[in-house]
Amino acid sequence: MKKTTNALTASKLYCDVFGHNYKMTKKVTFHVKEYTCKCCKKQLTTDSNGKLTELTPKFQEINSVLAKIYSNKMMRMKKRRSFQTTAA
Ligand SMILES: [Zn+2]
Repeated sequence: MKKTTNALTASKLYCDVFGHNYKMTKKVTFHVKEYTCKCCKKQLTTDSNGKLTELTPKFQEINSVLAKIYSNKMMRMKKRRSFQTTAA
């Protein structure tokens, strides 16, 4: 006999009834964030249209690339800003 009832299915049922309890777990860029449901651990991410979608391995890959570009950009912006303040 297979046991199908566990804590995860119970919290999933809770999510189905009351909705997911998403918490932001990672800020990828200014617009793209990753969320995880506190109950069933379902993961979501913001897609290119700004909508929430399931965090598939494909999106995890995209997000890690985006995060790299984003941190490089932020570093360049910081440098430029400090240059402007010293110039002015
Ligand atoms: Zn959930």
